[in-house]
Amino acid sequence: MKKIMIDMGHGGKDVGATGNGLVEKELNLVVGLELKRILDNYDAIVEVTRTGDVYLSPDERVRLVNNFNPDLSVSIHHNAAENPSARGAEVIHAHYDEYDDKLALDILSKLAGIGMPSRRAFTKLNDKKEDWYYMIRRIWDNDTDAIIVEGGFLTNAEDAKLLKSQDYLHKEAKAIADAIIGYLNLQPVSNIPAWQTEAFEKLIKKGIISTPEYWATRLGEKVTVGEMFGVLAKML
Ligand SMILES: [Zn+2]
Repeated sequence: MKKIMIDMGHGGKDVGATGNGLVEKELNLVVGLELKRILDNYDAIVEVTRTGDVYLSPDERVRLVNNFNPDLSVSIHHNAAENPSARGAEVIHAHYDEYDDKLALDILSKLAGIGMPSRRAFTKLNDKKEDWYYMIRRIWDNDTDAIIVEGGFLTNAEDAKLLKSQDYLHKEAKAIADAIIGYLNLQPVSNIPAWQTEAFEKLIKKGIISTPEYWATRLGEKVTVGEMFGVLAKML
């Protein structure tokens, strides 16, 4: 089973970037927890570096990840720049890993699909020709991919408009999750009784459910009366 560490950047006294009334540590937590919620529906073991507003030193953060020894470490961040026109998502990946580039580009394209422009996927080296960012340098190895997602600029009015919405942050998590699910080839798991999964498959075959990928991860969730009527009306 694949192991994934979700690392929510900053926390506690380390607030991260700020801009347009937004505080980075808070956004990172919302996106990271939603990402975990989604990935928990797949055949993966998912851990997080923090579940609340707590400070972690770089050493503590790295130790948490390396003790867990994941196949993939994803650090969730949001950006700031002096120039308020700088906008869009960036994904940083390990310099020496050609494959992480694919994941990085897929995350960017999926974020573009929900309205966040792609800025760049990149690597950065220090003068010893090691990865610049410690969450990559001290974590990435042949068994562990490590990437950092910068989900947009708090200092840009248009990005901030998106990032202010809880609904958008959940979409951001879904976009990142979809890229990870594809990259690690994760399969949905469930403890849903067979009669329910069989009913689900039957409705897909009949064309009554038109977006099975979406519903597949939600089979155990509660349905509202409105949603139930929506499905029933399709059958008329
Ligand atoms: Zn950050």
